Amino acid sequence: MSELQPPAFHVMAKPTGARCNLRCDYCFFLAKEDLYPGSDFRMSDEVMEAYVEQTVRAQQVPHATLAWQGGEPTLMGIDFFRRARAAEEGCVPPGMTVERTIQTNGVLLDDAWAAWLAENEYLVGLSIDGPREVHDAYRHDKAGNSVFDRVVAAARLLQRHGVEFNIMCTVNAANQDKPLDVYRFFRDELGARFIQFIPIVEVASPPTISTPGIVTERSVVSEAYGSFLNAIFDEWVLHDVGEMFVQTFDGVLAAYLRGYSSLCIFRPTCGDGVALAHNGDVYSCDHFVDPEYLLGNVLETPIGELVRSDRQRAFGSAKQESLPAYCRQCEYLFACNGECPKNRILLTPEGEPGLNWLCSGLKAFFAHTEPRMRQLASILERGGEASEIMTMLAEEARTTGRNDPCPCGSGLKFKRCCGAER
Ligand code: SF4
Ligand code: SF4
Repeated sequence: MSELQPPAFHVMAKPTGARCNLRCDYCFFLAKEDLYPGSDFRMSDEVMEAYVEQTVRAQQVPHATLAWQGGEPTLMGIDFFRRARAAEEGCVPPGMTVERTIQTNGVLLDDAWAAWLAENEYLVGLSIDGPREVHDAYRHDKAGNSVFDRVVAAARLLQRHGVEFNIMCTVNAANQDKPLDVYRFFRDELGARFIQFIPIVEVASPPTISTPGIVTERSVVSEAYGSFLNAIFDEWVLHDVGEMFVQTFDGVLAAYLRGYSSLCIFRPTCGDGVALAHNGDVYSCDHFVDPEYLLGNVLETPIGELVRSDRQRAFGSAKQESLPAYCRQCEYLFACNGECPKNRILLTPEGEPGLNWLCSGLKAFFAHTEPRMRQLASILERGGEASEIMTMLAEEARTTGRNDPCPCGSGLKFKRCCGAER
């Protein structure tokens, strides 16, 4: 066994496998149906109970997360989740907290679901890509029809029932140039407080040792991804700190505070979050559900043993070991760590493989946000509230002339930098 044993780990359970009631164009998981030909893609109670019990018991911290994802997990029906909730009884030791999460497209949610999710304190991830015109670009049902109204109705339903929900928004070719429309829609029209942005990087042609990979036209353009995050960051840091939570911003801020991020994509190593298929098979990561990364099955080997196996530890450290020199010398390595290996399809300027498709956008984001991230980190380090930065920035705007150098240290005039939006 490796010495890198995670005391806590995360399992993303997929009770319907790849099966889904929608047909989003960019979904990488639908093709995974081919891994299990002839399967009914329904998790048995035996696998479900093994997942719940083993995940809870194997944590070496007083906290466990039970996460359900897809495909579309609500296709299992609410009774399956009632039984999963019952399976927790008897295996959660005193003093341990259990967080329950479910990621859904929202289409099947109704009052009964919402009431039950509220009662059992689920955190619901709702997939929506922004206002109607951009949401409808790639997300639709099997017949190609819009599901926008049903997803918005699901958000309202969850709000009515007091269910905590976060928005999972992919960033793709259709919404990459509309950052503020997207962000303000979530904030002002849906009343969301938690947002997760997931860049779409769909590989059309994989890289070779000497040629870069090619992505589909739906994929986000790297520079556009950086500008998208920057525009939202500027809005957030002026108006919404402490009210709105953008996972990418929190993940990077953690790196300034602690030296490492809270998000796997920005951490030096992988390996602490596995994917569980409907039949109990465990894979190294949700993005590596392939036979090559099959670790075993929960009906044969406890999940904690699989996560802590040498094979999974090697998967985790490969992220760091495969970093190109270009990343190793990057000033933002501490916050980025080359991002997710699945997106490393480019060659560096020196011709070394393994550079991330998102590199130029991420670099622009790290550079743009660095002064404010440092300010936020120093506020938190002295025990203040992150929201204090908004007062500081308002004061800064009051006392800085439009033609003065921007106080953020960018070297630009204030009116062309942080003062541009005010
Ligand atoms: S492969 Fe990507 S998504 Fe999976 S654990 Fe590593 S960084 Fe995270
Ligand atoms: S910003 Fe680019 S060069 Fe720097 S660590 Fe990230 S991917 Fe590598």
